[in-house]
Amino acid sequence: GQRVLIAGAGMAGVQTAVQLRERDWPGTVTLLGAEPHRPYDRPPLSKAVLTGGAGAAAGTGSGTTFDIAFDVDFDALGVELLLGRRATGVRPADRELDTDAGPLPYDHLVLATGAEPVPLPGGGAGAHLLRTLDDAERLRPVLAARQPLVVVGAGWIGAEFATAAREAGCPVTVVEAAGHPLAGVLPPEVAGRLRRWYEEAGAVLLTGRTVTGVRPGGTQPYEAELSDGSALPARAVVAGIGARPATGWLAGSGVALDAFGAVLADDRLRSSVPGVYAVGDCASFPSARYGRRLLVHHWDNALVGPRTVASLLTAGEAETPPYDPVPYFWSEQFGRFVQYAGHHGEGDEPLWRGDPDGPAWSVCWLRGGVLRALLAVGRPRDVAQGRRLIERAAVLDPARASDPAVPLKSA
Ligand code: FAD
Repeated sequence: GQRVLIAGAGMAGVQTAVQLRERDWPGTVTLLGAEPHRPYDRPPLSKAVLTGGAGAAAGTGSGTTFDIAFDVDFDALGVELLLGRRATGVRPADRELDTDAGPLPYDHLVLATGAEPVPLPGGGAGAHLLRTLDDAERLRPVLAARQPLVVVGAGWIGAEFATAAREAGCPVTVVEAAGHPLAGVLPPEVAGRLRRWYEEAGAVLLTGRTVTGVRPGGTQPYEAELSDGSALPARAVVAGIGARPATGWLAGSGVALDAFGAVLADDRLRSSVPGVYAVGDCASFPSARYGRRLLVHHWDNALVGPRTVASLLTAGEAETPPYDPVPYFWSEQFGRFVQYAGHHGEGDEPLWRGDPDGPAWSVCWLRGGVLRALLAVGRPRDVAQGRRLIERAAVLDPARASDPAVPLKSA
C-alpha cells in the first residue's frame, strides 16, 4: 500500500491522519511530532492551562496524558505515532524525509509543522514565549507567584495571557508597539475600543513602545527595558509578538516558500513538489474568495484544511473542490468572547451593530454591499449567521444590518 507520512503532530497533522482514516485510506499513515507529548490542543494553553484550570489538571504527573490531549485513539485508527522526533529535511527525488533519528520513506508527505513564536529581541533568561505545553507549564508557577509581569504585544496571545495573569492576581503591564491593541488585525476605529478592556481588567497598557531587552535586577528578578529608556520590574516577561511558519527545516528541499516563509500551497494545498502537501499554520494558499493568498494562523484552518488533502488522496482532484474557506477565529479575553470570521481589507466599509462600549456588539465589513468579514464580541449568533452569509457573498441592507435587534440573516 501507499505510505502517507505527516510531519508535525499538532491539530493539522492529527486531523490529516483522522480524515484519511475516515475516508478509508488503505495505506499506512505515520505521524511524526517533534514534541514528546501526546498530540494536544493549543488554544487552552493561553487560557485554562495557565491558571491551573480544567485544561491543566492532568498535565503534570505521569506525563503521558493531558486533559488537552486530542481525544483520538491512534492505535485503533492504525496511525503510527513517532513522537519526540524532528523532521530535518526532505529529499523529494528519493521520496524520503530526513529526521533526527534517520530517514523515513513516503509516497505522500504532508507538511504540518505549524508555526514558531517570534522571540523577543535580546530575550534571554526571564523572557518567555507561549506556544507549547512546556511553555505553558513553565508559566503556570510564574502566574501563581502573583508578582508583576510584563507582556509584550497586545495581540490575541498577549491579551489572553494578560487575562489569565490578572485572574491569577498578578500586576500586569502590556507593552504594545502600535497605538492600540490588535493593531495588526483590526482598523484603529475598532481596535481603539479595546483599550478599555485592559483598563477594566486592571492591566496597564503602554502603547507606542517596544521592549528592547530583558536584564536581571531591580526589585524583581528581571527588568524589561523599554524603547523609551524606562525599565519595568518583572518576575517574567512574556512575548506575544507573532509567529512565523516553522519551515526553516525545508531549506534546500525544493519546496517553494512564500515571502513569509509559509509553504506556497495551491488551491488544493499541494506544494510545489509532487507528492508533498501542506496544511495548517505552516502553509499559505490562494483564496479566490478574497482575491489574494492567505496565511491563516487559526485553529479552524488546521481543522478544515486537512479534509482537502485527505479528499485529494482518497478521491482524487475531480472530487475535491478548491480549498477556499471563510477563515474563522475566536479568542477569550478580559471576560469576553471575541470571534472573527472572513477577511477584511483596505476599502471594506465597517458597519457597527450595537454599542461598542457595551457588553455585546459586532462590526461587519462590507464591500459593495457584500458581507466580507465580521468581528463579534459576545454575539455568537452574528458569527454563526455571518459565516454563512460571507460564504454566499450575501448583500446586506446596511440600515437593517446596523440594527442589532435584526438577526443578521434577515438583514
Ligand atoms: P501547531 O499546532 O503548531 O502544530 C505543529 C506541530 O509540529 C507542533 O507540535 C510542533 O512541535 C511540530 N513540529 C514543528 N516542527 C517540526 C519538525 N521539524 N518535525 C516534527 N514536528 C515538528 N486559534 C484559535 O482559532 N483560537 C484560539 O483561541 C487560539 N488560541 C491559541 C493559543 C495559543 C497559546 C496558541 C499558541 C495558538 C492559539 N491558536 C488559537 C492558534 C491555533 O492553536 C493554531 O492555529 C493551530 O494550533 C495550528 O495547528 P497546526 O497543526 O498547523 O500547528
